Amino acid sequence: MHVYLNPDDLKLIAKFLGYPDTRRLFEESIIIIDYERNAAPVPRLRFSSGAFGCCPFLENRLEEHSGEYQLKGLCRLHPDFKPLVCWLAPLHRTVELETGTDSWGFKPPLPGCPGCDSGNDTEEKTPAAEITAPEEFFARLESEKEFFRRLAVMLDSGIDEDQIIKSLYHLDSDCQK
Ligand code: SF4
Repeated sequence: MHVYLNPDDLKLIAKFLGYPDTRRLFEESIIIIDYERNAAPVPRLRFSSGAFGCCPFLENRLEEHSGEYQLKGLCRLHPDFKPLVCWLAPLHRTVELETGTDSWGFKPPLPGCPGCDSGNDTEEKTPAAEITAPEEFFARLESEKEFFRRLAVMLDSGIDEDQIIKSLYHLDSDCQK
């Protein structure tokens, strides 16, 4: 699983960790630059390697319920610092930069996932206007769309990759710690 991040996600994660800026996330290899999306440099969470490779923010712990123990997988970033793509799952979004529109699909995390009702995959697209959500949700979507636009312009203009990384991904976190 690849969890791609936008600049707002980077700032939130840095803030969660008490880092004054996002550079340290890269220095500590919590986040790496990936080129799998249209060969563009995009940050993503670095999962641990091995058979049980997982997100660095996933916390597994045993919880007792009525004398029985259950293994719980919890996101330490939930809810206030969670990356947008995790917030959206199991929805996924396609952004059309030329028209400025986006559309939606639904994909269960696993085939037949009991948390997804029928568990059916669908490629059916739903316009964002039909989605009911808090205002913050749409603000984060807009901000990410602006990030995609800026990245596309930079790639088209042939700007040096180091410059792209510095200007889009090396940011202050607004952390007060
Ligand atoms: S929901 Fe949380 S634990 Fe899961 S991939 Fe996203 S950040 Fe990591």
